[in-house]
Amino acid sequence: MRAVSPLISLVVPCYNEEENIDSIYSAMTNAFMPSTDISLEIVFVNDGSSDRTAELLDRLATSDDRVSVIHLSRNFGHQAAVSAGLEHAQGDAVIVLDADMQDPPIVAVEMVAKWREGADVVYAVRQKRKEGLGKRLSYKLFYRLMGRMSSIRMPLDSGDFGLIDRQALNAMLALPERNRFVRGLRAWVGFKQVGLTYERQARAAGEPKYNFRRLVKLAADGIFNFSTVPLRAIFNFGLIICVTTVMIGLFLVVQRLFDFSIFGVRSSDVPGFTALALALMLLFGMNFIVLGVIAEYVGRIYEEVKGRPTYISRTVARSRYASRK
Ligand code: UDP
Ligand code: MG
Repeated sequence: MRAVSPLISLVVPCYNEEENIDSIYSAMTNAFMPSTDISLEIVFVNDGSSDRTAELLDRLATSDDRVSVIHLSRNFGHQAAVSAGLEHAQGDAVIVLDADMQDPPIVAVEMVAKWREGADVVYAVRQKRKEGLGKRLSYKLFYRLMGRMSSIRMPLDSGDFGLIDRQALNAMLALPERNRFVRGLRAWVGFKQVGLTYERQARAAGEPKYNFRRLVKLAADGIFNFSTVPLRAIFNFGLIICVTTVMIGLFLVVQRLFDFSIFGVRSSDVPGFTALALALMLLFGMNFIVLGVIAEYVGRIYEEVKGRPTYISRTVARSRYASRK
């Protein structure tokens, strides 16, 4: 099923990683050195770095013909850089990993073994994070929230580190959307997805490039690109308000009729209060319902505009008539 001596592409997005380039390069080549039946391709994407990253990458490309380098015209962000690398990779299977040694290349070799056993997507699941408590907690929260809101099952606690078989990759690349949340698309295309636990290392050198603002953006991409739940919520909110309004309204009418006091105030003390309160609350609730209806349409338009195919097929057994056309 799998090629006997496959080409494996390693895709590495790099943004100001001058301190890590040489070590990640040697770590990758060393990790795959014993696998003599595997041809290796390394695709570095320089995501508009302003340090010596570009120069170091060019040097590697000159000295090693297994290396490709794609220089982006400016900093487009991690997900865009990964997408660029995936588009350029030639391998039978492609592995995405960070330049900062947080994703150990030795784990990539294990991924290839899983792929050879038949897995189409091998995603790395972090067992432990050697990162600050704040970051760990926010990631935990994000993946749980994501799991609840999203329409597809995305594995918890896994980032972009993972292997994708050529067939699944081609399906991913065919998705036309521009705002790419790679790990979401990877889960969305389906095929045989297998998890692999590993211990996430601390960043080897340099500063993390994801700051809080970028993480929020990533989380928003993850939630809004894969879910219209927030839009649906408007409708449900409207319904809740309407039901509550009717109940409060009934109560106010009863209060008006029997003229008893709440907190020492009778509704007859304030002429017109009941009518006004009823009108206000009902209108408010209806507003949200109407908004919810509009949101439902917006959600559907969004689904269509994304232009994702309705399905992706893995194998097709054609009848003898199929080729006749
Ligand atoms: N990265 C990138 N473009 C960016 C930000 C990050 O290509 O705009 C790369 C970065 O060089 C690294 C990977 O994406 O190889 C992950 O970044 P980082 O280590 O900062 O993220 P974290 O590990 O903190 O999630
Ligand atoms: Mg990192």
